[in-house]
Amino acid sequence: MIDLSKYTKELSKLFSSSENILLICHINPDGDAIGSQLALYHFLKARGRNVSMISPNYLQEFLKWMDGADLINIFIKKRKKCRKLIEEADLIVMLDFNQANRLGEAEDLVSASHARKVVIDHHLDPGSFTDLIISEPSKCSTSELVHELVCEMNGVQFLNKPYAEALYVGIITDTGNFEHGSYSSRTFRIVANLLDSGIEKEKILNLIYNNFSSGRIRLQGYALNKRMVVIPEYRTAYIFLTKDDLKEYNYVKGDTEGFVNLPLSIKGVYFSALFIEKDGFIKLSFRSKGQFPSNEFASLYFSGGGHLNASGGEYFNTLDNAIDYFLKVLKENVWRFEDKI
Ligand code: 5GP
Ligand code: MN
Repeated sequence: MIDLSKYTKELSKLFSSSENILLICHINPDGDAIGSQLALYHFLKARGRNVSMISPNYLQEFLKWMDGADLINIFIKKRKKCRKLIEEADLIVMLDFNQANRLGEAEDLVSASHARKVVIDHHLDPGSFTDLIISEPSKCSTSELVHELVCEMNGVQFLNKPYAEALYVGIITDTGNFEHGSYSSRTFRIVANLLDSGIEKEKILNLIYNNFSSGRIRLQGYALNKRMVVIPEYRTAYIFLTKDDLKEYNYVKGDTEGFVNLPLSIKGVYFSALFIEKDGFIKLSFRSKGQFPSNEFASLYFSGGGHLNASGGEYFNTLDNAIDYFLKVLKENVWRFEDKI
């Protein structure tokens, strides 16, 4: 097991010596970003600390039910209030990201703040934009890491139901309900304890996974049927969706979540990409099986990053050009699949 005491001594000191603690997650927050933020929030609140929360932009529908989610200030909606929170904070804790640009439009204000800054994260190669970097890529989720830090500081297993639920959401969403990611036997021990603590597993799974609109399910069918291209010689499949496609299926934010995983269940496909047409740019998601470094691919060619098997990036051009460019750079990387041929 990793020795977390090297972090918790300093972290404990920071928590107890700070008047106004601000927790910020990354732009387009996923279940782990919100899960880790809320778990830490509930822990600090239980300790009587003054804590506030910011997300750079809106939460997806399937996360809004979480206890405390309504207390997260959305930067692009409440700029004035968020500016005040950032300026008044003497400790800013950033969760589930490792580069300052993942703060979205909050980046400049956070960078200008004189607060002490901490990152808690599980992505590889953290940038050095904070005073303390707590980075453990061996953890399946930032939520698991937050929990380990809390245990180390507090010795307490599960504080309360909101904390336990937040932790569970972070773990299941970042591992695709234990399908991928760096979960370990330790993760299962934590989850076993979570189940013993009485969390309502069924209820949470339904709120996270079985909460879609009919439009979303139809969009998934359309994406697989009409917009998926399989390239057997490249061991790759990709899906692309235009703005018109999204409009036709009454797309709301989050509806394409998970689509990028689907082609990986095709025999012989080891790399999958999803292209979504946005205003002025293309958002890309990548997933891989085995050792293909999707994060390296994302950072080399699409100004992005992430984990070995799950990453993303952006391309500031048209959808057609993004796909052409993708195919060109993919060809240069086909040697990586040689052992699969
Ligand atoms: P998703 O495909 O679910 O949006 O993202 C998967 C993972 O890729 C995220 O957890 C995050 O680590 C990473 N990621 C996605 N988009 C970007 C991006 O634009 N830049 C960077 N650096 N990482 C990204
Ligand atoms: Mn995460």
